[in-house]
Amino acid sequence: MKRTEIKEALRSINYGSEINVKGWVRSRRGNKNVSFIALNDGSTIKNIQIVVDLEKITEEQLKLVTTGACISATGILVESMGKGQAVEIQATDIEVYGTADPLTYPLQKKGHTMEYLREVAHLRPRTNTFGAILRIRHNMAIAIHTYFHEHGYFYFHTPLITASDCEGAGQMFQVTTKNLYNLKKDENGQIDYSDDFFGKMAALTVSGQLEGELGAMALGKIYTFGPTFRAENSNTPRHLAEFWMIEPEVAFIQKEELMDLEEDFLKYCVRWALEKCADDLQFLNDMFDKTLIARLQSVIDTEFVRLPYTEGINILQEAIKNGRKFEFPCNWGDDLASEHERYLVEEHFDKPVIMTDYPKEIKAFYMKLNEDNKTVQGTDVLFPAIGEIIGGSVREEDYDKLMAEIERRQIPMKDMWWYLDTRRYGSAPHAGFGLGFERLMLFVTGMQNIRDVIPFPRTPKSAEF
Ligand code: ATP
Ligand code: MN
Repeated sequence: MKRTEIKEALRSINYGSEINVKGWVRSRRGNKNVSFIALNDGSTIKNIQIVVDLEKITEEQLKLVTTGACISATGILVESMGKGQAVEIQATDIEVYGTADPLTYPLQKKGHTMEYLREVAHLRPRTNTFGAILRIRHNMAIAIHTYFHEHGYFYFHTPLITASDCEGAGQMFQVTTKNLYNLKKDENGQIDYSDDFFGKMAALTVSGQLEGELGAMALGKIYTFGPTFRAENSNTPRHLAEFWMIEPEVAFIQKEELMDLEEDFLKYCVRWALEKCADDLQFLNDMFDKTLIARLQSVIDTEFVRLPYTEGINILQEAIKNGRKFEFPCNWGDDLASEHERYLVEEHFDKPVIMTDYPKEIKAFYMKLNEDNKTVQGTDVLFPAIGEIIGGSVREEDYDKLMAEIERRQIPMKDMWWYLDTRRYGSAPHAGFGLGFERLMLFVTGMQNIRDVIPFPRTPKSAEF
């Protein structure tokens, strides 16, 4: 008999008809006359109840139907008398596909900690919590593609392996086919990459932006959505070594329009979550964070604050004068720590903040220099509970200014001639941003740790599964 997904079955009103569902047993309880199986197939957070009359199917036949087992259940769809569900299935036949020994199955009924679940990441998608998170993750990816597609952007694929080391060289994962036990060195003791696969040093990308700019200089509006890799040796709840990044890049826009895009895009994604993931969000709201849905709604309803860095520093110093304590200093020129970002967003404004015009020393070489010669047109978005969710900027389109900055920083550009060509041939004002997909997921799900919003997290000393 053809399988009906549980999501469909729960919506059906074909009472009295025969139906087949398949899924994993969440629990089984009952008495000597009747047994109730809660079955979930991942299509929805909700379980369907299978009612087994023990005169028709014996306890002996049911003994393998334990938590975690996979079964196929056929029966009659009926209106449920019990509360909490509209329909249930009166079983006529149960087939066990795969058993799950109750003595060893790692997911017993309830109440495992998030830390424990990370150790069983191969099975945690079967929990209510991770089912909800992973369905939301899918929906957010669709939201992102839909937003850009509907706004005329082209999905542009940038390489994952790169041989340009100008950005974030220190935190790149090298890619090599060389025998690490027998490395050829030159007369200065430096590794000779000429016989390596690419004939030069190569690494996994930390960002698709530079190639994304090439796309924008031809297609006008592009976005990337792919994996990025950073060998950040900091173990924080907001950093992964492998994460997904969304990077739109747009020709012919300036700072105000970039900020409009950041705000409109984030609101669109959050609205999408509230509309398409209502059941899963309700579950997370009830189980983990009673203010989650209200927080999502408030982001949609409020206008983001647009705050120049210098004004932000003034606010923080005023707060310090009034007795607010911070762990790290924040004088003009310092990179803001997450405690500073959160003070501004959560305490001072109680709204998302787009911070702009940062000191050039704390930002990347490609950001457009302001007339003061001290600040650059960065536009980072700071979110409640997260801190930095988007890092954006207007790009320096002037060849001479860009080169001056590259030389001042002594950035090795020998492999970057192609990037500089964008400024030599038909250069144009342009801007873009990078959104960490898992940072967005943290915000939307209310989870506390970035390891819990991606199926298989990669972090220092951890690459299991
Ligand atoms: P942070 O200061 O939080 O480390 P960053 O300044 O290094 O961020 P960018 O280089 O601007 O970040 O990257 C763009 C976006 O990618 C960030 O705004 C953030 O959302 C996300 N991001 C950066 N590093 C990581 C990481 N290690 N894991 C997950 N997301 C990240
Ligand atoms: Mn970083």
